[in-house]
Amino acid sequence: MSDCVFCRIVRGEIPSKKVYEDEHVYAFHDIHPVAPVHVLVVPKVHVDSMAHLDGEHEAAMGRLMVAAGKIAREQGCTDGFRTIVNTGRVGLQEVYHLHLHILGGPDPLPPML
Ligand code: ADP
Repeated sequence: MSDCVFCRIVRGEIPSKKVYEDEHVYAFHDIHPVAPVHVLVVPKVHVDSMAHLDGEHEAAMGRLMVAAGKIAREQGCTDGFRTIVNTGRVGLQEVYHLHLHILGGPDPLPPML
């Protein structure tokens, strides 16, 4: 069983502010939000990062993307939102359990690089 912090959140061993859960996907508020809406969406199956995905993950990642759009709408992001997946050292990934950030307004977000 994984000691990964997000695996532990999925298992309910570490508290989180859950916003969505289904058989394959879990979503919760980021503990240090950088926008009025800041939700993390994770696959329940542990994958270190996007760089570690392969064919066996295709269905799970498809479900995650569909769930992310639904979650963003439910969080009030009806006029758009940003999604970010940080990967590896260069991507400044801090938690090595693949996760999608959903960032939303109400106002437009600052431009990225
Ligand atoms: P970065 O910090 O550069 O965005 P990541 O993409 O790996 O790196 O993001 C990890 C995110 O997980 C951070 O936004 C951090 O605030 C969040 N986080 C870490 N621990 C928890 C936790 N226990 N509950 C909720 N969010 C968490």
